Order: sequence, then C-alpha cells, then structure tokens
Amino acid sequence: MRSTLSVEEIKELQRRVLDLKRKKGAYIIAHNYQLPEIQDVADYVGDSLGMAMEAKRTDYPIVVVCGVHFMAETAAILLPDRKVITPERYAGCSLAESITPEQLREWKAQHPGAVVVSYVNTTAEVKALSDYTVTSSNAIDIVRAIPEDKEILFLPDMFLGMYVKEVTGRKNMHIWPGECHVHARVTPQDISRAAVENPGAVMLVHPECGCSTNCLYLKAKGDLDVDIKVLSTGGMVRYVKQHPEEEYVVATEVGILYRLKKEIGSDGDRLKPLREDMICEYMKTITIDKLVRSLEEEVYEVKVPPEIAEKARVPIERMLSLSR
Ligand code: SF4
Repeated sequence: MRSTLSVEEIKELQRRVLDLKRKKGAYIIAHNYQLPEIQDVADYVGDSLGMAMEAKRTDYPIVVVCGVHFMAETAAILLPDRKVITPERYAGCSLAESITPEQLREWKAQHPGAVVVSYVNTTAEVKALSDYTVTSSNAIDIVRAIPEDKEILFLPDMFLGMYVKEVTGRKNMHIWPGECHVHARVTPQDISRAAVENPGAVMLVHPECGCSTNCLYLKAKGDLDVDIKVLSTGGMVRYVKQHPEEEYVVATEVGILYRLKKEIGSDGDRLKPLREDMICEYMKTITIDKLVRSLEEEVYEVKVPPEIAEKARVPIERMLSLSR
C-alpha cells in the first residue's frame, strides 16, 4: 500500500512529527506492520508484546500508539495516569473482532472452571473476562504452565490455538474459531511454491498463518523439505539479526519487511514476502499526516472504563511478568 504523498511531503511531515514530539513530551510506539514513514519517526517499533512492555517502561506524559485499537487500549490500561492517543480511532483488527464479550461469557458458562487464555489481539472487555493474556511468543509456555487437569479455553485465533495444541500435546484445550483475514489466507501450497522458487531460503512463518500447523505436520512427515521457523514478529526480527547472511521468505504482514531490511542493512534481495497481498489495511489507516494531526490536537485519546481496565490489567500484567 503506497502513500499518495510525495517523498518531499512525507519528509516535511516527518520533520513536524519530530518537532511536535519534542515540544509536547510525547513518545511514539509503533507496530512492525506500520508504514515505513511511521516506523522511521517512532521511538520504539515492535510487536504487541514489545509495545506493551515499552509503554510500561516510558515516563512520558503522552504516549502515541501507532497500531490497531486493541494495542492502544492495552497501553491505556497499563498507563491509567497518562494520556494515550492514537492517530486513527477506527483502526480495528479482524482477529480481535472475532469474539465478543457476550460470546465469551456464553462459552465460559458451557465450561465452568476452565482457564481462559486470550491472545493479546482481543478487546479490553474480552481481556477483562480472561485469566491469561498471551502473545505468539509465550503462548506455549503459558499453556504448559496451566495444571494438566484444568480445561483451557483458548481464543480467538484458531491457527495459533491449533499450533499451541500440537506443540504442547494438550488434550483438554478448546479453541475458538477466530482468524485474522490477512494470515488466514496463507496455505501450505504457498509454502511449497516458495520453497521451489527460493531453494535454501528459510521460511519465517507467523503462527497466525493458516498454514502453520499443516506445515509442521507435513514437515514431520518429510513431505516438506524446507527450513520453517514459526515465530512472532519480534522473534523474526531477533532471528534475522542473528543470521543476517541467510535468505528469507517471510509469511506475515508485508510491513515487517521494512523493519527486517533495516535491521540487517539489506537492500532487500535476501528478504522476500511469501505473498505480496498480505497487507493489513487496518494498520495502514495510520498515515503520517494523521500522526501530525494527532500530536497537534492530542487526539484521539483512548480511555478504557476503570472497572474494565482494572480486570483486564490482571491478565496483561501476568503476560508481562512471564515475558521478562
Ligand atoms: S494483521 Fe490481522 S491480527 Fe494483525 S492487526 Fe491486522 S487484522 Fe489484526
């Protein structure tokens, strides 16, 4: 997705962002899927977990979250005494929207006593009804830490859930049938095709992808001769930094490629997207001109009702304490 602004216009808007940021005492936290011009002016770029950890670490009076709405909500829950703003209040997430609080209440009623494990891509209200919030980097460890005799309700991403179930061998884990529209479209055939076209390349696959469990299964059977690493976006960044000489095919939202190329100082020859159409239009609703306006007018402030924030803070803090 390309900006309609010229390079000079973007540079001028970036200068204004840096100026406003300094004057207002604002700190910008951006997700790996954000547009390059946003990543370049952010104080921190990372995945959902990294963003939450960074929000807690900062002591700036204004925190600007460039990411989808649940990310800004998480920062607002963690920083009740600070002003948390987002440049685009309608930046949703198809995965977070795949379960409502009412649906979760009903599901819990069907499984009394079950431990509710929610992926971080959920609304504050859903987190408030959960026991643990997890990310793709710590979901396996958290599920393993839950006593064997406890039923688990895992939500909302079914591909991540199936992946965790496969790796942990957990039998009494129920999985909500939610998905992210960007990652769900990836198939094992995409991986097979990319392996033929890029012999020797390492496949970096996000566990939200529709192919992750299938790929592990096919690989275990010996039907897929390719080096697959199933990693969170933060895990992908770390892996590529540690192995800058490798060639990669990357199966997640294409915005991560800018970050990865920057990390290894590559012009991009060794990093390719699995599919060019893996674009999250919600992430791309945050543009540099909206960021300028957001800083100028200090909009849009994200507030979570205290009674929901108080409950949602418990599973989020558990996630953070298990991630240090
Ligand atoms: S890529 Fe998918 S999970 Fe990530 S923000 Fe977009 S819709 Fe949500």
